[in-house]
Amino acid sequence: MFKLTPEQEERAKAVHGSSVVVDTHNDTILHLIRAPPFVGDGTGTLPPRRTLGERSQDGQIDIPRIKEGGVDCLLFAMYVSPLHRGRLRRLLQLLDAFHTELEANPETIALATNHDEIIAAVKAKKIAAVIAIEGGEPLEGDIGALRMAYRLGVRSLTLTHFPRNELGDGSGADSGSHLSEFGREVVGEMNRLGMLVDISHLNETGFWDVMELSEDPVLATHSNCKALCGHHRNLTDDQIKALAEKGGVMNLSFCAGFIKDGVGFGDPESIKKVTIEDWLDHLDHAVGLVGTDHVGLGSDLDGGCGFPGLDDVTKFPDLTRGMIYRGYADHDIKKILGANDLRVFKRVLK
Ligand SMILES: [Zn+2]
Repeated sequence: MFKLTPEQEERAKAVHGSSVVVDTHNDTILHLIRAPPFVGDGTGTLPPRRTLGERSQDGQIDIPRIKEGGVDCLLFAMYVSPLHRGRLRRLLQLLDAFHTELEANPETIALATNHDEIIAAVKAKKIAAVIAIEGGEPLEGDIGALRMAYRLGVRSLTLTHFPRNELGDGSGADSGSHLSEFGREVVGEMNRLGMLVDISHLNETGFWDVMELSEDPVLATHSNCKALCGHHRNLTDDQIKALAEKGGVMNLSFCAGFIKDGVGFGDPESIKKVTIEDWLDHLDHAVGLVGTDHVGLGSDLDGGCGFPGLDDVTKFPDLTRGMIYRGYADHDIKKILGANDLRVFKRVLK
C-alpha cells in the first residue's frame, strides 16, 4: 500500500477527524438478524447473530468499529428479497430490528430523519443513523406503504434491486424497460415527501426516466464507474455527468466485483486482486468527469462487499490517506467524505 510522509499522516488524521464522514449504504441490519431468508414462508427469525452495540469479529459494521473508523452518519438499508412471501412484513421485521438496536444504544447512536438531526447527533458525539429501503419490493405496489415507511422514519429508497420489481427493471434484469406507472408515482411521491431517490441498481432506461422526472437531486448510494469496470451495476460516464448536473452524488462502493473486471462476488481468491489503489482509480475517474462536488462514499459493507485493506468500517481513514496520497486538497477530501451527501440531504430531506 501507499506510504505517506509523517506530515501527510498528521494531515490525514486532522482532515478525517474534523470531517462529517457519511457512508450511504450498508446491509448491517440484515447481517445482524440473519433471519433465514427462505425458510418456510420466508419470514421466520433466528436469534440475532450479533448486536450493533458490541464489537464483533463477525460482519463489518458495529458501533465500536464505526467510532474507530471515524464515520459519523450511515444509511442503514432494509433489503427485502422478492422471494419473501410477506414482503411488507419482512420490511417491518428489519425496521423492528433497527429500532430495537437504536433503543439499546441511546448514548452512541441516534435516528436522524433530516439534515439538522444528523448535525445534532454528530455534535452530541453520536452516530447519525438514517433508514433506507433497498429495492421497492416491500411496497408491494402500494403507494400507501411508501407513505407509511416514511412515517416509520424511512428517508431513502433504492428503487430496485437486481431483478425487475413493481417499479421498474433492476440492472440485473434489464429488458430496456422504462419505469412503470407505479415507479413514476413513487418518484413523484418521494419528491413530495422529501425522500432520497436512489438510482443504484436501476437499469439505464429507468435511470434516464428518473433524471427527467425527479425535481430533486438524486443519489447513487453504492455504484462505481463502468469505464473502469464493465459490471452492469456500474454507471456510464454520461450517467455520472447527468447525476452531477442534477446536483446529485455518486457514492463509490467497496464492492470488489464493481471495481475490477473479472472479480466475482463471493470469490475470495479474485477479491484479493483488488486494492485501495483500484478504488482510488474510480474516485479519480469520477472526479475527472464531474469534479469533487458530486462524489461520495457508499461502502455496501455487510452486503458482501469489501476487499483486503478495505474490509470493515475501521478502514475508512485509509480512504482519506489514499486521497492525500493522490494529491487531493483537504477541502475536496471533506466534500468527498461527506459534505457532498450532506448538501443533498439538506436540500431534499424536510
Ligand atoms: Zn445493493
